[in-house]
Amino acid sequence: MSLVVYNTLSNKKEKFVPIEEGKVKLYLCGPTVYNYLHIGNFRGPITFNLMRNWMEKIGYEVTFVYNYTDVDDKIIQRANEEGVESKVISERYIDAFEEDFRRLGLKPHDYNPKVTDFIDNIISFVAELVEKEKAYVVDGEVFYEINKFEDYGKLSKNKLDDLNAGQRVEVDQKKRNPLDFVLWKPAKKGEPYWDSPWGKGRPGWHIECSAMIKSILGESIDIHGGGIDLIFPHHECEIAQGEGCSDKNYCNYWIHNNFINMDGEKMSKSLGNVTLARDFMDMYHPEILKYMFLSAHYRSVLSISDEKIIQTASSLSRIYNAILVAKETITMVEGDLVEDNGFSKKLEELSAKITRALNDDFNTAEFIASIFEAVRAFNALGFANKKKRNINHKGQSQTFIKWISQYSQMASLFNEEPRQMINALDEMMIKLKRIDLNIVNDLLAQRSKAREDKNWTKADDIRDELAAMNIEILDGHARGWRVKIQ
Ligand SMILES: [Zn+2]
Repeated sequence: MSLVVYNTLSNKKEKFVPIEEGKVKLYLCGPTVYNYLHIGNFRGPITFNLMRNWMEKIGYEVTFVYNYTDVDDKIIQRANEEGVESKVISERYIDAFEEDFRRLGLKPHDYNPKVTDFIDNIISFVAELVEKEKAYVVDGEVFYEINKFEDYGKLSKNKLDDLNAGQRVEVDQKKRNPLDFVLWKPAKKGEPYWDSPWGKGRPGWHIECSAMIKSILGESIDIHGGGIDLIFPHHECEIAQGEGCSDKNYCNYWIHNNFINMDGEKMSKSLGNVTLARDFMDMYHPEILKYMFLSAHYRSVLSISDEKIIQTASSLSRIYNAILVAKETITMVEGDLVEDNGFSKKLEELSAKITRALNDDFNTAEFIASIFEAVRAFNALGFANKKKRNINHKGQSQTFIKWISQYSQMASLFNEEPRQMINALDEMMIKLKRIDLNIVNDLLAQRSKAREDKNWTKADDIRDELAAMNIEILDGHARGWRVKIQ
């Protein structure tokens, strides 16, 4: 079975065939480091982390490059506001990004190049384009001449005539075509600069990715990723630069992830519009972010709301509870596995389903659904009564843990200590549902007392009262109760 990916270049799903057998060269456009990153900025890293890990699982050797844009107007502006060098700003936010990234527990990239470390490569790239007459110099400024690249528009499906007709802004007199884009620009006073054949200046934005790709991965790569907002002009310009320079295919598969839609109205209540990734992880948990992102397909718009977060927490809680029950059963029951009563066969079927889903343009929504199906099948084996757990339950638990571990590594999910995670999720839901824990504990104590007194009617009434507060008494659960989600 082979991998199929949706290619923005052809606007359809294509069989994935790498340039070099068994190897994948993958580049994802990284952040401009002038501030803390929003949760939406992490859809790329989380999605491509799974893609990379999946490709490795099915046998590819992947080289993954994710860059830092550390020269940019926004960085310079911020540095001027704070009265510091731009490097102070960029280093601060690279550190912040790396801290967020580690908290998410994603697999480190093979290369995280910074633009400032590749200025020489950028200058030689631009010089080559000038030499090949794909670019021209005007007063220390270098422009790419798009009329010299007849495929311009092939990724975004934009036609030059339409683009030109759409130009309303004042035309830069220096440009031969209003759509020509800048490769190198002279530094203004107070801006960081580097010496170049065209004077002191700094690179334009688009050129950095092409130059870093060429230096690290070579003239042609297999997969280039980014958010859909980068298709035009950024990726279109990258193609023009790369192919204009090498006359070879710049990239074979373009993969773009869609937006995050933060539902302002629906989020305002308890979220208080928390949008920075670090604040989100403080308030909730990195697992919530990863699970929520992966439960939707990367090409669909993902809407985030309070309700969505509560549902995510509830699903995660059920998965972690099954992991906890399995781990407890393994240590609790003595002896070794004799028979798992066909449970491993069920899991094998689900593995086949997961392989089909992920090989079909990384359908993570199906993948998550299959994990859930496995949890349901596991729970159906009857673990509620701890005293009745036997050697078969132990075998099934071992099978389940072994099975889920391979996917937890691949998706960078379900790797937390289960009891701590369940408690964290419960507390989160208690907060989100505005449940008063004192009242809950008081009612639970009253119910225990009623049961001791064999006052079943009273015990049942209290159970109903708790149910009305969204508290469900659950014997198999770590706490003995959980917040119920409709
Ligand atoms: Zn880029």
